[in-house]
Amino acid sequence: DHTNGHTDSSLVLPEIKFTKLFINGEFVDSLSGKTFETIDPRNGEVSAKVAEGDKEDVDLAVKAARHAFDHGPWPRMSGSARGRIMMKFADLIDEHAEEIAALDAINAGKLFAFTKMVEIPSVANTLRYYAGAADKIHGEVLKMSREFHGYTLLEPFGVVGHIIPWNFPAMMFFVKVAPALAAGCTMVVKPAEQTPLSALFYAHLAKQAGVPDGVLNIINGYGPTAGAAIASHMDIDKVSFTGSTEVGRKIMQAAALSNLKPVSLELGGKSPVIVFDDADVDAAVDLALLAVCFNKGEICMAGSRVFVQEGIYDEFVQTLAKKAKGWVTGDPFDPRSRLGPQVTKKQFERVLAYIELGKKEGATVLTGGKASGDKGYYIEPTVFTDVKDDMAIAQDEIFGPVMSLMKFKTIEEAIKRANNSKYGLAAGIVTKDLNVANTVSRSIRSGMIWINCYLAFSDDCPYGGYKMSGFGRDAGMDALYKYLQVKTVVTPIYNSPW
Ligand code: NAD
Repeated sequence: DHTNGHTDSSLVLPEIKFTKLFINGEFVDSLSGKTFETIDPRNGEVSAKVAEGDKEDVDLAVKAARHAFDHGPWPRMSGSARGRIMMKFADLIDEHAEEIAALDAINAGKLFAFTKMVEIPSVANTLRYYAGAADKIHGEVLKMSREFHGYTLLEPFGVVGHIIPWNFPAMMFFVKVAPALAAGCTMVVKPAEQTPLSALFYAHLAKQAGVPDGVLNIINGYGPTAGAAIASHMDIDKVSFTGSTEVGRKIMQAAALSNLKPVSLELGGKSPVIVFDDADVDAAVDLALLAVCFNKGEICMAGSRVFVQEGIYDEFVQTLAKKAKGWVTGDPFDPRSRLGPQVTKKQFERVLAYIELGKKEGATVLTGGKASGDKGYYIEPTVFTDVKDDMAIAQDEIFGPVMSLMKFKTIEEAIKRANNSKYGLAAGIVTKDLNVANTVSRSIRSGMIWINCYLAFSDDCPYGGYKMSGFGRDAGMDALYKYLQVKTVVTPIYNSPW
């Protein structure tokens, strides 16, 4: 089903106020004067022209960040002072939730109501979570020996580069920026070229909240130019990246060939959802559909391989065919829509090409299998049955609402086939049997396991990859420590009897 481009006629699209680069607390044009267009995926039309940053703009931003780190107040002020500014930043985000959500709807095809009511308030809370941690950063006392003792200092890592993707412009921004701010780092952020608008709005709010100039810099631009300049910069101390596995490899290579900066990589996935015979079929189907349709499948942790045990397989397939219709595609401003358009024409065509490939490989289309609506980049939720483990649709990250459904017999088989992937980001397990759930949890090689739920998150849940899904964790206290460096200080003790 499709809502046929229905949009509330009373809707006023947001005024796009910020389209430049943000360097040292000011909105500025790029040195080259170049701009690029951002496209509204609802209709393929240009929504804004945005300043296009390149290497020389990254250099300026790094200079500002370096100065703010070496001489500015941010790393030197107390954790509670940083926390207070971050709390204010969070309040400003809450106040502007509607405007930010509208920007993400016309930039990324995000569902407006969900973004306004769930994602934006939740990123404000991400800031608050790390604001509360900013004054609780402390090292350890090291007893050592009778002759020496020591302690560790946790110091901010320095100037950080964040390279972020387009699929969650708000969450991806704050999951990186918030812990780095709390740690006392300064930073250069490159939003995805598809979705720069909300990031620029955040820069404006950060300044209003009192984040000092030079602490948070935003360079819009393309990956091979602005992104590559960050990865290979000699004066950036760490890079945190989320995106594709191919680009992750390039980031690591650039880091190795420049100043050996550490990187953290949150990459692709092909996560399994394993449904056992004792599951409630209705609830399991709902879970599986959510796992692959949420955010139109544009989510690194999408549960795109669904393994169903043979005893309930047929019932699962029938229920799935019915329930998939409930996932209506349509305009993201229409409250009836559950899937908006894919983010760009390129992604739209890529997903459709995978659907065609699945058909060619011999899989059967149970539902969907084609584009939806007559304009924009909408795709029907698509379920393939008769999928074999070695088909491309069972191995490659498609990044769209495409499920590969497979049947299994035993728990050992399920574990083996679920692990048959170069990725290891997440997994879902659906069973009432606690022992099965615990056994499978320990056996799956991935950074996140959901038992009888999927995509359940909060700020205290670290997530990240095993295998080629990358390394390092975002969210939770683990992410804070990613932006801190341990220094050990040792001093002698004279004449101690202990
Ligand atoms: P991408 O990896 O190309 O882009 C992610 C970010 O990296 C963007 O900001 C981009 O500008 C930047 N980038 C690209 N090339 C770069 C380079 N050489 N050096 C430095 N930075 C560079 O992802 P994409 O093209 O937007 O999407 C392609 C595929 O990536 C998707 O189909 C999906 O499989 C995957 N993806 C994964 C995630 C995730 O959350 N894990 C997010 C987005 C996309």
